Amino acid sequence: MEPVLPTYARQPLSFDRGEGVWLITADDERYLDFAGGIAVTVAGHGNPHLINALKDQADKLWHTSNLYRIEGQERLAKRLVAASFADTVFFTNSGGEAVEGALKMARRYHNANGAPERYRVVTFEGGFHGRTLATIAAAGQAKLIDGFGPVVEGFDHVPFGDMDALRSAIGPETAAIMCEPIQGEGGIRALGSDKLRELREVADEAGILLILDEVQTGMGRTGKLFAHEWAGIAPDILASAKGIGGGFPLGAVLATKRVGAAMTPGSHGSTYGGNPLAMAVGNAVLDIVLGEGFLDHVNKIANQARQGLEGLKDSHPDIIEDVRGQGLMMGIKLRREPAEMMNALREQNMLAVGAGDNVLRLLPPLVVSEEEMSKALSMLDQACSALESEETKK
Ligand SMILES: *Cc1c(COP(=O)(O)O)cnc(C)c1O
Repeated sequence: MEPVLPTYARQPLSFDRGEGVWLITADDERYLDFAGGIAVTVAGHGNPHLINALKDQADKLWHTSNLYRIEGQERLAKRLVAASFADTVFFTNSGGEAVEGALKMARRYHNANGAPERYRVVTFEGGFHGRTLATIAAAGQAKLIDGFGPVVEGFDHVPFGDMDALRSAIGPETAAIMCEPIQGEGGIRALGSDKLRELREVADEAGILLILDEVQTGMGRTGKLFAHEWAGIAPDILASAKGIGGGFPLGAVLATKRVGAAMTPGSHGSTYGGNPLAMAVGNAVLDIVLGEGFLDHVNKIANQARQGLEGLKDSHPDIIEDVRGQGLMMGIKLRREPAEMMNALREQNMLAVGAGDNVLRLLPPLVVSEEEMSKALSMLDQACSALESEETKK
C-alpha cells in the first residue's frame, strides 16, 4: 500500500517553486500554470504581498481558536461584507466545509422562522459541491456517492438549467435552491444571467433561499468579485473558497442578516476556521482582487483569450468543438478525452485541468499577462497540431 492514500490520478510531475504564472521543477523546467491549483492561485505563485503577509503573521501569532476575538477575521469579514451582498461571514478551511455551512444555515433559517419541515435542497445535475457526505449527496452524481453507504437525505436533483423541473421539485419541505453560477467540475457550464434571475424569482415566490456555490467562480475568476453580480442578483447564502486564500486553505460562508440571525452562539463552529494565518493571507488576497484596475485586467485578458480560443476552434475543428466560460474561467469542449489534450499540453510545458462533459479547463492565476496569455494560446495551438498529426499517423 502506498503511504499516501491513492485517491488521486496524479500526473507524473512535481514542482519545487513558483513565480507568477509559472511552476518550476527541481531541475529548473518551467511550466505555464493554467491549472492554477484548480482556480486557487489568483494572485500567482510566490506573490510578495501574500508572502509578506504570511511571514509577518507567522512571526506574531499562528492560532488561538474561535474562543477569542480574531482581529484579522473581523477585518476580512467587514471587507467582504462591504464588497458583496452579504451582512455576515463565517470562515472555514475549505470549499466543502463552506458548502456544509451554507446548507446548515438554510435549514436553521427555516427552523428559526417557524418552518422546521423545510430542510430539502434542490440542485442541478452535473454540479459539484465538495467531498463530504452532505456535499456529495447535494451533487448526487453516482461517481461521487457510490460505495459510501446511505446517501444523506434531503436533496432533490433536476436536469441542468431545467427551470420547469426546478419549479416542480419545490414543495412544502424545500428550504433552498443551490447551484454554481457556472459549473466548474461539471464542464464550465454556465446557467446564464436570465436563469440566475429566474432562480431568484422562483426562490422568492416559494419563500425559500437561494444558495450559490461560488467556490470556483468567486474572487474575481469571472471578472467580477462574484459571478452572480453579472446577473444583477444576490443570493441569500454564498459559499466561497479556492481563490479566497490564494493557496492558503481558506473558505467562507457569506449570508444576509435574516439568515445570519438564525445562527446563534454554539450553533456552528470550526477549530481552525478563520485562524490568524489564514486571515492574514485572505486580507492580502483581497487587497489584490479589490485593487484598482484588477478586475478590468481580468476582463481584458479574458477577451484576448476568448478571441484566441475561438480562432483555435476555427483552425482545429476536429479537436475543439466549443469554447465556454466567462472571465478567466475558461473551458474548451473537446472531441476527445481531456486527458489526451492534457498530455499533449504537458509536452508543451503547459498545465490545465480536466472536467466533465469532455471539457478542458483553463484556470490561470488572474495576474496572467497579455504576453503569457499569447504564449498559452500558441502552446494550445501546438498541442492541437500534435494531436492532429498523431491522428494522421494512425
Ligand atoms: C472545489 C469545489 C468545492 C469543494 O472545495 P474543497 O475546498 O475541495 O472542499 C465545492 N464547490 C465547488 C463549486 C468547487 O469547485
